[in-house]
Amino acid sequence: MSLVRIAVAVPGPFYSPLTYLASRPLAPGVRVRVPLGPRQVVGIVLEAPVDDSLPADRLKPMTTVLDEQPALSADQLALGAWLCRYYHAPAGEVYFMLLPKALREGKALWKQGETVWTLTEAGQALKVDALPLRAVRQRRLLQWLQQRERATVTQLRAFMAEYREPLRRFEARGWVRSFVAPCMPTRPLPPARHHALNPAQQRIVESVSLDRFNPHLIEGVTGSGKTAVYLALVERVIATGRQALVLVPEIGLTPQMIGRFEAWLGQPVVALHSGLNDSERHCGWSRLARGEAKVALGTRSAVLGRFQNLGLIVVDEEHDLSYKQQEGVRYSARDTALWLGKHLDIPVVLGSATPSLESLHHARTGRYAHHRLRQRAGPARLPTLKLLDIRGERIEAGVSAPLRAAMQAHLDQGQQVLLFLNRRGFAPVLMCHQCGWQADCPACSAHLTYHREPEHLHCHHCDYQRPVPERCPHCGSGSFVHVGQGTARLEAALAQQFSVPVVRIDRDSTRRKGTLDAQLDRVRSGEPLILVGTQMLAKGHHFPKVTLVGLLEMDQALFSPDFRAPERLAQQIIQVAGRAGRGEAPGEVLIETRQPEHPLLQTLVTGGYEAFAEAALAERQVARLPPYAYQALIRASSPQAEAAQAFLTKVAERCQRPDVDVWGPVLSPMMKRQGHWRYQLLLQSEQRAPLHRLLAALLPWLWAQRSHRVRWSIDVDPQDMG
Ligand code: ADP
Ligand code: ZN
Ligand code: ZN
Repeated sequence: MSLVRIAVAVPGPFYSPLTYLASRPLAPGVRVRVPLGPRQVVGIVLEAPVDDSLPADRLKPMTTVLDEQPALSADQLALGAWLCRYYHAPAGEVYFMLLPKALREGKALWKQGETVWTLTEAGQALKVDALPLRAVRQRRLLQWLQQRERATVTQLRAFMAEYREPLRRFEARGWVRSFVAPCMPTRPLPPARHHALNPAQQRIVESVSLDRFNPHLIEGVTGSGKTAVYLALVERVIATGRQALVLVPEIGLTPQMIGRFEAWLGQPVVALHSGLNDSERHCGWSRLARGEAKVALGTRSAVLGRFQNLGLIVVDEEHDLSYKQQEGVRYSARDTALWLGKHLDIPVVLGSATPSLESLHHARTGRYAHHRLRQRAGPARLPTLKLLDIRGERIEAGVSAPLRAAMQAHLDQGQQVLLFLNRRGFAPVLMCHQCGWQADCPACSAHLTYHREPEHLHCHHCDYQRPVPERCPHCGSGSFVHVGQGTARLEAALAQQFSVPVVRIDRDSTRRKGTLDAQLDRVRSGEPLILVGTQMLAKGHHFPKVTLVGLLEMDQALFSPDFRAPERLAQQIIQVAGRAGRGEAPGEVLIETRQPEHPLLQTLVTGGYEAFAEAALAERQVARLPPYAYQALIRASSPQAEAAQAFLTKVAERCQRPDVDVWGPVLSPMMKRQGHWRYQLLLQSEQRAPLHRLLAALLPWLWAQRSHRVRWSIDVDPQDMG
């Protein structure tokens, strides 16, 4: 029997697939079990037969075939190949990202529903006393079943280890029956209900062609009705029998959003986010892959899913940083959505109140259709933005006197106030009052944040935690000061100064399941209160009674060395401001600053985001920065700083090309993290192609340099230079 060679992606640090021997050709996308060193692993067939020149005696036979039909669709295989090529990422990571964990572990391809048992009408009507007294197990089981609508096998077994025999008797007499429930419980939904679109929204919906690739950017102020446009588009697409994928940022995937989609469409939506367990994830994946579900609403990785018949991709808040994966394969879900849209020849709709400069550039150069929604859709008007010059003002607990007066005025009118402070914990620094010693993370170049409830010090970069020292390790004194202000401290101070409740929403206050919803419910109840929060509050939420938004300590970003910092700051200000005045009463936004003359703030306040973006794009063009140039970042880290630096110096020597600029190596802004010193090398080119050619040429050498001493990674289109 002649053996065929097959190319198999195996999990781990393998840039290319490995070759194995099989007894027959296999379809690409099929999972196989293969030997890898001493282990057996689940691999994915990429090509079979494959043509290579490896000597046959070095090849091992594969062990078993796991799938009858491919686990990855042809479109996913094409997507994987693109991710490998564009992000210069290893096959050993990319293809496995496209599968849910259950399938990476070798479980059966399709998530089957569970068998559940339920009483028939006859069983429901049966009296326990109709059963003989000595049939103890039957009597117990009947009573138990009569107390519930249905029971899974797991529940049955937990109730009674020997449930089988009595259950079989019940079935034989027609008292129980079993059926296979879908792997996701579906709630009955009320019929679809919509509101009509206004003419501006309607025009956008009509301009989207459903039968070819056409990218759109909707630049619409907060509350302008973008979501309603997405809903109308999704509705049109599923009416043609195709599926729709809506991507949302990590933070935005609130139950309200799912509820709104299900209510409008009148059918269940598959939610894909980090809160799911492996089985739920596998279930959603299967339902979309088989076309049993028509609409997926998910965060970043949802774009890597398998769809039977995708007809539309929407990327909401397309500027959001959470779309870019910051570790492993550093892909952008937005850019991936555009590639996929082109590959499938379907429309892609990006939306944001504060589009990324990249997307705006594409819109301005005509690559994307550009739509603007400048007014709020409902009766609400846009809030007015004001800079609050706090130089020389009395600051109490981080809030200036004029802001406090404004807060009191809004609260007196029965409204709610939102204060935005993007720093959780009590204080960002714990300092010795005698000698100035500061509590730092032993593994990172960062201060430890002081938390008061429960009292401890915490590194927000590596999660290191320790108790607060009793004495200063440097001078032995026992008095410390808390320097700076976090949300917990702000909350405590406000609770003393105001008579209304203070609700804090950040990662610490919402750690327990259900607390976030409870807090949001409290805010929505409409009672006058002060809401304090981090960026968790900045997006998506609709608080009709919030009429005043105060932004604290925004100045720092004005002096960041990161060229994207102004863009991020402007986006953050506009997004937070968008929480104000979404109800009947008009909103007011006050930005505390000691830089009231700063051109960025001035442009933003007087001209809004459009004016800001215009100015920022002009600056980028002059400076030859993205979107007018293309970048890749090569990072290296090591417990020994010199090793990381020396490694990147060698890389830099290999990057000498006339058409690619090389900057560095330099220490990363966050110099040390988790005990590793971090260096980076920036590659930049005016065209995409030379940059990618250089990276592709560099890659075999880079992979040959793998060592335990230095870790390295490639980040194409880096978003975070930290
Ligand atoms: P965005 O996604 O741009 O923030 P939404 O679609 O959430 O905007 O709309 C903001 C508010 O306006 C919502 O309460 C929504 O129900 C309402 N709305 C949207 N479109 C219309 C419309 N055409 N007529 C009336 N109200 C609308
Ligand atoms: Zn740390
Ligand atoms: Zn000291």
